[in-house]
Amino acid sequence: MRTTHLVAFLSLSAAILPFPARARQSVVPKATPSPAAEHHDRQPQDIFRIQPLSGAVYALYGRGGNIGIFAGPQAVLVVDSQFKDIAPGIVAEIRKVSDKPIKFLLNTHHHGDHVGGNEVFKQFAMIVAHDNVRKRMLASPADILRDYPARLEEARKAGNEQTARTLSDLIEWAKTVKVEEIAAPVMTFDSELRIHMGDETIQVWHLPPAHTDGDSVVYFEKAKVLHMGDDLFNKVVPFIDVQSGGSVRGYLVALDRVLARVPADAKVIPGHGEVTDVSGIRAFRQYIADVLDAAQKAKASGKSKEDFVKNVDLPAYKDFQGYKDRFKANAASAWDEAQ
Ligand SMILES: [Zn+2]
Repeated sequence: MRTTHLVAFLSLSAAILPFPARARQSVVPKATPSPAAEHHDRQPQDIFRIQPLSGAVYALYGRGGNIGIFAGPQAVLVVDSQFKDIAPGIVAEIRKVSDKPIKFLLNTHHHGDHVGGNEVFKQFAMIVAHDNVRKRMLASPADILRDYPARLEEARKAGNEQTARTLSDLIEWAKTVKVEEIAAPVMTFDSELRIHMGDETIQVWHLPPAHTDGDSVVYFEKAKVLHMGDDLFNKVVPFIDVQSGGSVRGYLVALDRVLARVPADAKVIPGHGEVTDVSGIRAFRQYIADVLDAAQKAKASGKSKEDFVKNVDLPAYKDFQGYKDRFKANAASAWDEAQ
């Protein structure tokens, strides 16, 4: 299946393109400095960086959404799989910390930079995720065939050859792929799940719609490590996938739920950005609250959406990666949800 390569290509800017890249307003954004982009510039063999956290839990940075690894006494559990082309490299990194079989792969949501490696992992691991992750992955060929021909036309008109080629390849993929061949989760759940490995309990919590409507976070109880998936971007402006059921307001609800539940001394792996702690979650919540607040004030003052989006600026967050690329989109979504 070629789509993960294509999705990888499309997501050069921040590696947060959905699976599939459905119905996005703009064409491929320009490359920006980000951990993902930086890793792109390195040699293929050294894109990875592994960070021991506590107990048998590690964070693995590569290209795409950060990976969590639990090296249990009998087996390994992995959180997210980045891209197909680097999945063998991910397995090689895991082999540096454990020679046990890789039995479980949890997907935090359906985006291509988190599930692209599923095709490799499905050969030996049980893939587990929220119901909507499976639904959205299986619906992707139909979504592409519905949404992409128009985008292809646009790209051709604009003379954007590379994008046109990529879109047309994706359309070809969607025409020929058998839905049953898509490496979607084979075990799904609707609210919570616990996996028991040695003396560790791995809790998986589905959260209210935030990044998408299929988000889960993963909490390693004994190690006190939380993998947030894309419900947390650390010092990175988020992509809020409202077309996949995501919500700006929902982020606040989801983050509050996590903050009420996780111990103050937990270590936290974000979907994008560096490993942090609970203060990183609070800082990100503040960003979301500030964007929403700006939208609400502008709306109350009678400004138009167009005027608001054109002029809105939150200087406190200028240093966040992706501010230029995604802040305005966050602001527009906040406007739509402002009361
Ligand atoms: Zn995502």
